[in-house]
Amino acid sequence: MRLGVLEKRAVLVDSGHRLAIDVAEASDGRFGPSITAIYNVWDDFAAWAHDIDPANGSVFDATLENPIPEPAQVFAIGLNYAEHAAESKYDVPDFPPVFTKYRTSLAGPVGVVELTGPKIDWEVELVAVIGRAAHRVSEADGWDHVAGLTIGQDISDRETQFNAHPPQFSLGKSYPGYAPMGPVVVTPDEFADRDDLELSCDVNGEQMQKGRTSEMIFSVPQLVSRLSHITPLLPGDIIFTGTPSGVGMGRTPQRFLTDGDVLTSRIADIGEIEQRFVATAETR
Ligand code: ZN
Repeated sequence: MRLGVLEKRAVLVDSGHRLAIDVAEASDGRFGPSITAIYNVWDDFAAWAHDIDPANGSVFDATLENPIPEPAQVFAIGLNYAEHAAESKYDVPDFPPVFTKYRTSLAGPVGVVELTGPKIDWEVELVAVIGRAAHRVSEADGWDHVAGLTIGQDISDRETQFNAHPPQFSLGKSYPGYAPMGPVVVTPDEFADRDDLELSCDVNGEQMQKGRTSEMIFSVPQLVSRLSHITPLLPGDIIFTGTPSGVGMGRTPQRFLTDGDVLTSRIADIGEIEQRFVATAETR
């Protein structure tokens, strides 16, 4: 199942992202139109949606919007790929640092982002969406609490992040538009191997990052388990699961986003998201 949002209404989308069925209409108001409400009744919704085929839907021309617009909690994992930890000059941690991206940074899959300084960096990430509350769950049960997966960009202002001591991970990664996500949430059963997805991003068509989620130090079910032993995870919560190597900060010479750059991020069998960056009077 591929779940998205069109004009603020939850929709089921076909694999080509061309046809959609409005959830509230098709369910006679039982589910939707708010996608946030759907995550709260995920098991019932998934059972209902199982019999709906979006190939019977209508062609849409509107742009898909953020499929997780109102998470109660946003978790983000740093240093979850060994090569990225190395390029960031950190040792591989026993458990990666956890920070948040504040809700006002969340955005849809396509848009324009204002640059906030000279060191704005990219981090393509798999984002896991919680579908069933999780408290002290085992790793073996971790996937059972995940509604689906989507693409995220953990866009980062390296000056705000690292000019503070200790670093300000959450604030440095929470300017408006610095957490674009989408285009749809894909349920884990749609993947040949949900633990091994290729993810990549490029700037103006030049590839910057390419990795596989099987390289994560802590897998999705391990993250669900470890986090849930501290903090109960709620339906609709999201986890940015960390980025592979190839960020601008870790390159020689370093490279950052500038006015007019287009950042395209992809995960196999989910799709792609695209942001265009613009300088403002202050950052030009
Ligand atoms: Zn990140």
